[in-house]
Amino acid sequence: AATPAKRYSITLLPGDGIGPEVISIAKNVLKVAGSLEGIEFLFQEMPMGGAALDLTGVPLPDETLSTAKSSDAVLLGAIGGYKWDKNEKHLKPETGLLKLREGLKVFANLRPATVLQQLVDSSTLKKEVAEGVDLMVVRELTGGIYFGKPRGFSTNENGVEIAYNTEVYAAYEIDRIARVAFETARKRHGKLCSVDKANVLEASMFWRKRVTEIATEYPDVELSHMYVDNAAMQLVRNPKQFDTIVTNNIFGDILSDEASMITGSIGMLPSASLGESGPGLFEPIHGSAPDIAGQDKANPLATVLSAAMLLKYGLGEENAAKRIENAVLDALNRGFRTGDIYSPGNKLVGCKEMGEEVLKSVSSQV
Ligand code: ATP
Ligand code: MG
Repeated sequence: AATPAKRYSITLLPGDGIGPEVISIAKNVLKVAGSLEGIEFLFQEMPMGGAALDLTGVPLPDETLSTAKSSDAVLLGAIGGYKWDKNEKHLKPETGLLKLREGLKVFANLRPATVLQQLVDSSTLKKEVAEGVDLMVVRELTGGIYFGKPRGFSTNENGVEIAYNTEVYAAYEIDRIARVAFETARKRHGKLCSVDKANVLEASMFWRKRVTEIATEYPDVELSHMYVDNAAMQLVRNPKQFDTIVTNNIFGDILSDEASMITGSIGMLPSASLGESGPGLFEPIHGSAPDIAGQDKANPLATVLSAAMLLKYGLGEENAAKRIENAVLDALNRGFRTGDIYSPGNKLVGCKEMGEEVLKSVSSQV
């Protein structure tokens, strides 16, 4: 007998620039991959970013936020463009993105860096080093030195000008990011490396102590620790040693950008931002690429792979996620490439055609 369909509501926020082009493809891929797993999606498309500014005067309308909050997951394209670059701060499209993250209470940012064999030559590293890299950086997003108080400019007791920031972490903030990281490692290859500076910073000593305690809840995950300076070096020396990395806000900011450069393909990189409960936010790491917007040149695969993360980490639908990942690999294996990942001997296609080829690959799966 046919099992009743599982239903999820997905908020789509196409945004600006290439956002609408890549979101429309990811939506179609989700639909087909879902239907093969007995999943039905209710898609609600809402204005966000510059598009919302033009329409309503604010970058994140209340209705967009409330729709996003009441859905099961949020898929975002990209935000911003030349047109709004001179706007006042509160009227910049990017402000909407910060408000959205705040509103969804997401505190864990997941960024994979996977070197696909088909694209190994686009890596910034030597082939021998790049081959087989498949790692994930889990970055704490709402605490640490970027938000810590006290902060500011002042003068000290000798009348010398100073400036200061504070690295603060509460136990619960470390515990919850650690749990997301252990769960993530469990869904991957079972290895977690916690990165800190516990030889110098008290906040890092505390971080290491809490992560080590939380590890007792995950006996199946292998935990290791590394100092951040060493981690930065190991990422370019031998990135294959890493499976899942967890680290604080500032170290994660730096290491996740470093890790993404290993792959060298900005058009291929997805991300997820997760909270304790409530919908996660899924988006490509690239921006709105105004230089190629509306020209059918964008690589839609970063957004398609973000949709796969939505299924895996947002909804726990790992089979449907695998279908999308396999379809992307299959389209690449059949030689289809957008301009950003093109190399001679392959077939140069636009955004739409790449989307159609991925759809063919999903549909041909049994
Ligand atoms: P941000 O909006 O975060 O400031 P940015 O302006 O630094 O981002 P992007 O908008 O990501 O960067 O664009 C950087 C370059 O990469 C541009 O030349 C853009 O065309 C290219 N690029 C970005 N995303 C894609 C994509 N999906 N496909 C092809 N090229 C892309
Ligand atoms: Mg940009």
